[in-house]
Amino acid sequence: MRQESDLSEYQRKRNFQNTDEPEGVKIPKKSGDYMIHLHDARRLHFDLRLEWKGVLKSWAIPKGPSYDPKVKRLAVRTEDHPDDYKSYEGVIPDKSYGAGPSLIWDAGNFIPLDDFDRGFKKGHLRFRIEGIKLKGDWSLIKLKESDEKKENWLLVKENDEYANSITPTHENAPESVATGRTLEELKTEKKSLKQILKKILFLN
Ligand code: MN
Repeated sequence: MRQESDLSEYQRKRNFQNTDEPEGVKIPKKSGDYMIHLHDARRLHFDLRLEWKGVLKSWAIPKGPSYDPKVKRLAVRTEDHPDDYKSYEGVIPDKSYGAGPSLIWDAGNFIPLDDFDRGFKKGHLRFRIEGIKLKGDWSLIKLKESDEKKENWLLVKENDEYANSITPTHENAPESVATGRTLEELKTEKKSLKQILKKILFLN
């Protein structure tokens, strides 16, 4: 279902009259960027995004990553997101899909350690993360009970020099690596910067 890069599900779920998330019209075929959104929707979760062939392959991780290789963290595959979503930070408005503040919790590069397209088919991706907060080698392993509608994966730390060090979390490292803001600060700003800019531009 999600083997091909496809933004139709992403676009179907959103009303771009109401949210200032990117529409994802242009699709540059770039790979290699990595980022994580910290997103306080119905529940706080981490959205891992790996840029692959022009879209962001995405997983929602309720508990976030762990540097302990013995800990397996559930990572629910979500729809491919447009490439420019990696720079989105703001408050998704009430009644919109994923309503709540979302900040750029980490960003950097990732390097596939195995053939990435084959990895998707096999259900086992190995990659190195070179982020500001998160580093080192990781595996994503697709669970057998996944079906077409819902793919459950596990995010696991591989053994390397970062294994078993202190994991960055929403508590010990809560701020955006892009703007330094926390979710609380985002929430108290009623409108995202883009919406404020839009308003100013239309009013003047
Ligand atoms: Mn999310």
